[in-house]
Amino acid sequence: MISHRKVCVAFRTIYLSCYMKVFKFGGASIANAGRMKALLPIIHDERQPLLVVLSALGKTTNALEAIVGKAVGGDATGAVVLANALEEQHINYARQLLDDEHFEQAKKSLAELFVEFEQAVGNVDPSRYDYSYDQIVCMGELFSSRLFFFLLAEHGINCEWTDARKVIRTDATYRDATVDWNYTKLEAQAIIGRQLKQRSVVVTQGFIGSAGNGSSVTLGREGSDYTAAILAAMLGMESVTIWKDVDGFRNADPKLFPDTVRIEALSYSEVIEMAFYGAQIIHPKTIKPLHNHSIPLYVKCFLDRSLAGSVIREHVTDTHYPPLIVLKDNQLLVQVTTRDFSFITEDNLSTLYAVFHTLKIKINLIQNAAISFIACIDNRADKVQLLKQALGKEYKVSVNENVQLLTIRHFTPEIVFELTKGKQRLLSQETRKTVQAVLK
Ligand code: ASP
Ligand code: MG
Repeated sequence: MISHRKVCVAFRTIYLSCYMKVFKFGGASIANAGRMKALLPIIHDERQPLLVVLSALGKTTNALEAIVGKAVGGDATGAVVLANALEEQHINYARQLLDDEHFEQAKKSLAELFVEFEQAVGNVDPSRYDYSYDQIVCMGELFSSRLFFFLLAEHGINCEWTDARKVIRTDATYRDATVDWNYTKLEAQAIIGRQLKQRSVVVTQGFIGSAGNGSSVTLGREGSDYTAAILAAMLGMESVTIWKDVDGFRNADPKLFPDTVRIEALSYSEVIEMAFYGAQIIHPKTIKPLHNHSIPLYVKCFLDRSLAGSVIREHVTDTHYPPLIVLKDNQLLVQVTTRDFSFITEDNLSTLYAVFHTLKIKINLIQNAAISFIACIDNRADKVQLLKQALGKEYKVSVNENVQLLTIRHFTPEIVFELTKGKQRLLSQETRKTVQAVLK
């Protein structure tokens, strides 16, 4: 039975927070102390209270993954050396970021986290890779958010630091945890909702949460966007802004294509398709909670706030999109063929799907023919091995390595020709709006 008082608190929280924003800053925006300091005016000039979700500093998550690799691989000394170096980097960062008084406070505060970090490195269980990974990798966001907290404090901003693991509750699927929405909603309102009433800024971590058993979890690489969306949805916030080093959502990755254009407004459905097929700009899980709660998502450039950016929302007036292009590298094309020439029908399709599901192999594109089933998946040699073991008796499993998955929404024949010329098309699919091709 939910008490009348709890309903009132929940209602008040939602009512108040529909005028509040979530800002998410990614690793690039805090890659060095200069960059983190440059975010101060963005915070200062914004209407408060404000909820800030942070990623780890720069490439810290990769560094943490390297530590996991060493520790799980049995090189305990190597892991400790890397861990100490990472701690030192954070201390040096703090020194460049803060005045003496706040540096001393930050150092003490980081030291507490370093204890947890060193324990996690010392306690790895090689038989539980994903679990051990999450206990170590979750630390990056905890470190960075403490630094940011002390920066705001030094500049007189009334702020609070919150451990996202107390708020975001998930199952125990380490490295790809599934959110327990009911629990998370209650905690988000009870903890962050309350803090937002008392403080100008609440700082928390993206990407991390905790399972019911108290262990730390992560939500999948680049998952900080998702955290911002989860919290915005659970608190009924006005909007989410993701601050990036690009000037908005572009029709293709500017690192891969020379002539891209910024798109001012996109619908949730466009972006969820693009993100699902590998667009790097946003974590694919981000859109659903925002869509379900009608919360717009802004993409803005932290290097120049005057740039217009992009907005992602339900209704978009100009839907004359240019071709939206996503090229996903490092793919495998797996072909599963019945050995005895049985047809691929509903019954063996359900077996095949079940095997992919059990092995946690995400299928990016699928096609089936008379006696074969073809799937384009992310390159994981270990998973292919498991697939062969599971299916080898009845099916022949063959693999094309090193292929790319090209997705073009709002395609024209010219752009398809342009992007596939000189390449071998191993598979193509076309619907009214979208062309997809697996290329070699
Ligand atoms: N730090 C995590 C990663 O690099 C999460 C994020 O940045 O969104 O994957
Ligand atoms: Mg990151």
